[in-house]
Amino acid sequence: MIDLRSDTVTRPTDAMRKAMASAEVGDDVFGEDPTVNRLEATVADLLGKEDGLYVPSGVMANQIGIALHTRPGDEVIVDRSSHIFNYETGGPSAISGIQLHPIDSPEGLLSPDLVEQAVRPAFDVFPRSRLLSIENTANKAGGRVYSVEQIEEIASLARAHDMALHLDGARLWNAAVALGVPEATLAGPFDTAWVALSKGLGAPVGSVLVGPSELMAEARRLRKRLGGGMRQAGIIAAGGLYAVQHHRGHLADDHARAQSLADAIASLPTFTLDVSTVETNIIIFETVKQSAENVLAELKENDIQMTAFGPNTIRATTHRDVDDAAIRRVIAVLRRLYS
Ligand SMILES: *Cc1c(COP(=O)(O)O)cnc(C)c1O
Repeated sequence: MIDLRSDTVTRPTDAMRKAMASAEVGDDVFGEDPTVNRLEATVADLLGKEDGLYVPSGVMANQIGIALHTRPGDEVIVDRSSHIFNYETGGPSAISGIQLHPIDSPEGLLSPDLVEQAVRPAFDVFPRSRLLSIENTANKAGGRVYSVEQIEEIASLARAHDMALHLDGARLWNAAVALGVPEATLAGPFDTAWVALSKGLGAPVGSVLVGPSELMAEARRLRKRLGGGMRQAGIIAAGGLYAVQHHRGHLADDHARAQSLADAIASLPTFTLDVSTVETNIIIFETVKQSAENVLAELKENDIQMTAFGPNTIRATTHRDVDDAAIRRVIAVLRRLYS
């Protein structure tokens, strides 16, 4: 099976498993797991922040980020297509008692104008706009990337309105590769940011939330409250550390494979896709005449999996467990079925 449903399906390699098996460990709730500490310091350094916190999932990183910056009744501005608004079980209202203010942006990327329109005036009847959260890359926008200039513009607008800034950087590694800039440059304007180890990087578990030491001390408390305090977590953290050190450099291959797959999809009459929207490892395309469900069933009969993002919308995600030969096979099958 060639699995293009998500980059979360990546499995640890033998070398990563060896690193995990031999990891030095301790009780991380006491702050005594040297591997976790090394992972947190490594990622904090790469993102240019004081401290890091290893968390079991990206969802927990987002929920801690929101809880850190808000009080009940506050409002958090996000894109309508964001993970926080769509896929986190209503966590922000259940956990932090805030309300989300989802913005409809034409391409799934926020702009300063749209944020400006969403910020609440300072008047008793309104909730307080306290936090702006951005995804880079933006998943439902097709892995699109915010440039350094776009981020800085949006960030200075948020600052002017006294709002905190949180970065959902599940795929910040991909954004950095696509733009050819360090992760720290992209994380710079944000108070808190996190990156996933368990997506394109190929580690089995976890994300790292980063920010200033004072906020991260509070984040550590919140992680405990959510049940995310782990003991000899160095075993899994070692997989993350290995991925950061050895897999980060290979993400450009995933992007090149997404480009060649996108070119093939765009050339077929059954699909519509603007290849210029494919900037990283995610391809979102439309089916013409056939339903997405139909296409996915036909592909599955040919040992290929992608995922539906709407009745006529399909997402394909490249990752390190799908090599050039696999991409060539996917292209051959698509041409045979849909030319
Ligand atoms: C995957 C993802 C998350 C959540 O990460 P999990 O580790 O699956 O909880 C959050 N935001 C974005 C943009 C994601 O792609």
